[in-house]
Amino acid sequence: MSVRVRFAPSPTGFVHIGSLRTALYNYLLAKKHGGKYVLRIEDTDQSRLVEGAIENLLSSMDWASINHDEGIAIRDGELVEKGEYGPYIQSHRLEIYKKYIQGLLDSGDAYPCFCSKERLEEIREKQKSLGLTAKYDGHCKSLTKNEIQEKIQAGEPYVIRLKLPVNKNIEFDDAVRGKVVVNSDEVDDQVLIKSDGFPTYHFAVVVDDYLMKITHVIRGEEWLPSTPKHVYLYEVLGWKVPQFVHLPNILNTEKKKLSKRQGDVAVEDFMKKGYLPEALVNYVALIGWSPEENKEIFSMKELEEKFSLDRVSKSGGVFDVNKLNWMNNHY
Ligand code: GLU
Ligand code: ZN
Repeated sequence: MSVRVRFAPSPTGFVHIGSLRTALYNYLLAKKHGGKYVLRIEDTDQSRLVEGAIENLLSSMDWASINHDEGIAIRDGELVEKGEYGPYIQSHRLEIYKKYIQGLLDSGDAYPCFCSKERLEEIREKQKSLGLTAKYDGHCKSLTKNEIQEKIQAGEPYVIRLKLPVNKNIEFDDAVRGKVVVNSDEVDDQVLIKSDGFPTYHFAVVVDDYLMKITHVIRGEEWLPSTPKHVYLYEVLGWKVPQFVHLPNILNTEKKKLSKRQGDVAVEDFMKKGYLPEALVNYVALIGWSPEENKEIFSMKELEEKFSLDRVSKSGGVFDVNKLNWMNNHY
């Protein structure tokens, strides 16, 4: 089986150093195994889109020489999609999600939910006051086919939720965390299709990773809590789960979340300040991955040869601009 990986950013602004690392590790794994690296745009949350973010992403990746094999590109000033598994922009794939959600509705693994924002807010508040984690209460799970038909005909807005089983262990293997087991009772009946007809990230990511034949899902650990939902979706759809690889966060020198307020965190900042792209890539590669030999300066070619998932660290890496500067001066 050949390795196929993807970097799947949402076009919501600049490219964070953490995203650069995610893209890089995906790219390196593909190169090391002669596989393919896909760039997919996850733009299903239309309210968060930022004008120019795709162009910014492409120029940041190009500057860093993290070149994708399939996905999107700009040719003659036009955004184009290249590769046999496209389209690679999720908002261009709405028909595909419609087809798969229909299958889940037919099999009873998903259900329409007509609950109002006010009702959802109310149950959330109640659960919070009882010290429980907020979770949908399953109110619409028992609606009959007729009731559903009537509501739809009356034009009531609705979302489509995943129907999780009661008290079932959901298990998966993570290359960094090892075996993860979560009970379905702790997982929310995730919204798969929003009332605007767009899929949520959770639904689109599973459908796309399957259809794009992705073998390894390498992404930030903020997605680890969502993965049981994804794994259950794979199961009801009868699809093989990919290998998950959740990368620990990149922290600042105070061991806190790396944020824009403390200084440069966007690739474009380093680009504009004249850093060598090779030095930034080299430095970022070593935040969260350690090579076998005691060496600091690596070319992209060397990183491609040496990278391996089993040397990805299990704890958060630190971004220290002084170390980056050292590397930039010694590269
Ligand atoms: N669109 C998600 C993000 O920008 C991607 C998460 C994933 O790789 O599954 O973080
Ligand atoms: Zn409901």
